[in-house]
Amino acid sequence: MLTDSPPRKANLPAFTESDRITTLDLPQDGILVTIAKSIESAMESGAGSDCRRACTEFLHAASNFYKVPDCDIRVLAARPLRVRENWTTEIFGDYSPETMLIRLWMRTAVRKEITSFGTFLSTLCHEFCHHLDFQRFGFADSWHTRGFYQRAAALYHHARGTAPKRLFWAPVAGGRWRIDWPRTNRSA
Ligand SMILES: [Zn+2]
Repeated sequence: MLTDSPPRKANLPAFTESDRITTLDLPQDGILVTIAKSIESAMESGAGSDCRRACTEFLHAASNFYKVPDCDIRVLAARPLRVRENWTTEIFGDYSPETMLIRLWMRTAVRKEITSFGTFLSTLCHEFCHHLDFQRFGFADSWHTRGFYQRAAALYHHARGTAPKRLFWAPVAGGRWRIDWPRTNRSA
């Protein structure tokens, strides 16, 4: 994991704020944990429509908790070869701030690798955190800052029912950071 380069002046305050916010309120009622389990079962049974339904439920519960508008989701069999501009694109998903649509795919385009449940849920949480950046924090853009990754990890570990992990970072050129895995894993 690597952070984005700091943006130009106008967006720098929001970027710095995104970098600084390393915690995220989490629902105390376990609803996301329950729904995450149904996503896992749907993936195991290979039912795409069940998987999409469970993801929709997850996003609805999360949007409700964070008091943001609902976002929509599409679960695709494979990654589209052409990915639109202005979408933040990861290996297993993307998010469009204009349409508030998350897309997740079960396989990568080139190597056709199947996404594991852990990666799938982690991508779902990651894309939802882009949604939060625009709708809850009101940022003009959604950067991959250290804070962003930490918030996405908090949501993921909560939903997965695993212990939260503090991320440690090492500086790289251009004001960017890469995750220091040995240190991060040692502290877990
Ligand atoms: Zn992203």
